Amino acid sequence: MAHEDFTLQTRSPEETQQLGKILAQHMPDHVVVALYGDLAAGKTCMTHGFGEAYAVSEAISSPTFTLVNEYHGTKTIYHLDLYRLTSMEEIIDLGYEDILDTPNGIVLIEWAERAGSMLPDEHIAIHLSHDGEDLRSITINDAGLMQDGWQEALNTR
Ligand code: ADP
Ligand code: MG
Repeated sequence: MAHEDFTLQTRSPEETQQLGKILAQHMPDHVVVALYGDLAAGKTCMTHGFGEAYAVSEAISSPTFTLVNEYHGTKTIYHLDLYRLTSMEEIIDLGYEDILDTPNGIVLIEWAERAGSMLPDEHIAIHLSHDGEDLRSITINDAGLMQDGWQEALNTR
C-alpha cells in the first residue's frame, strides 16, 4: 500500500530540531531514515532533534571525514553523511551492513541518494528544501513504519 507524503514548514533551526525530536519519539526500535536535501537544507539540524529525544550527551556534528558517527543514548544513532562518498566500496568498508543489522539502531543517512541500491527498500524518507532564508519545507513519507499518532504530534507541536 502506498503511504502518503506529509509536508510541513519550519521557520527556524530550533523548529526543525523540535520536529526531528517529535519524529524520533515515534520511531520503531530499528529503522533507516533517509534524509534528502541540498547543503544547509537542515538535515543535520533535524538529526540534533534525534539526539535530544534519545538523550545523547555528546553534540552531534556532521560526520564529514568519517562518513559515519555513532552516538549512544536511550537508542543508538548511526549518523551517516554520504556527501563525500566516492565509491560503493567505501560504504561497505564503513561497516554499513552491520550498521543496518544493529538492533535498536536508528540509522540516519544524509545524502541517502548516494547509497543507490544499497539503501534498504524499507526506510523512512524525509526531503528538506529551502523555501526562503529561514523557511524550510519538509516532506515525510514514513512507509507505515512510524508509531501511530506522529502526524497529530507534529500538527499540535
Ligand atoms: P544540512 O545538514 O542539510 O547541510 P544543516 O542542518 O547543517 O544542513 O544546516 C542548516 C543551516 O540552515 C543552519 O545554518 C541553520 O541555522 C540554518 N537554518 C535556517 N533556518 C532553518 C530551518 N528552518 N531549519 C533548519 N535549519 C535552518
Ligand atoms: Mg549535514
